[in-house]
Amino acid sequence: MPIAENLRYFESQLQGTGARLVAVTKTHPVALLQEAYDAGARLFGENKVQELVAKQPELPQDIEWHLIGHLQTNKVKYVAPFVHTIQSVDSLKLLQEIEKQAAKHGRVIQCLLQFHIAAEETKFGLSLPEAEEILQSEAYQAMRHVLITGVMGVATNTDDEPHLRREFGELRGYFEQLQARYFAQQPAFREISMGMSSDYRLALEEGSTLIRVGSAIFGARNYGVAG
Ligand SMILES: *Cc1c(COP(=O)(O)O)cnc(C)c1O
Repeated sequence: MPIAENLRYFESQLQGTGARLVAVTKTHPVALLQEAYDAGARLFGENKVQELVAKQPELPQDIEWHLIGHLQTNKVKYVAPFVHTIQSVDSLKLLQEIEKQAAKHGRVIQCLLQFHIAAEETKFGLSLPEAEEILQSEAYQAMRHVLITGVMGVATNTDDEPHLRREFGELRGYFEQLQARYFAQQPAFREISMGMSSDYRLALEEGSTLIRVGSAIFGARNYGVAG
């Protein structure tokens, strides 16, 4: 896999959009991550705590690690020392634990509120009223070690373009409403994380600021045993 070439391609796709690339490295060995780093990638996304924690010490320290998968409260402590952004915040309880663990390390952890935009019930994420309930809570308003920098969503696994556009547009709408109601005058609230290998073009057209791309850079993932 010509990783450097693929990264250059994505760089050219992102030029002029203001959006950035999160290279999704799950299942791939550290050597491939290093190859991507050497080719200039700095934002890396992993979806499992155990894998993220295993890889992070093996790689350069200026990588901005994004956790993009569902996070259990009891695992926050493992990523709190180094994670840059937790993209998958879907409850106040989780946010409270992130606050607690970030405080222990004297850090501020950036967080995205994950919204449920897909038709599939199995996917995680908040509704707009649930997100607003978090933002209106006293618990959230007292937090000093989390910084909510935007929203994230995983679209339906489909190649139906109008459908995908609707879901991306829905997420952008949530972003805009939250920005107006809770984050006016706060430029740090600026991220709309949406779009993956198969649908990033549409996501960019619908206003994505962070695309999360794995297989189009690193090739197909092998989930098999003893790969
Ligand atoms: C795996 C994953 C991606 C990347 O998927 P690709 O199709 O390989 O680009 C993006 N976002 C999330 C949340 C993922 O789990």
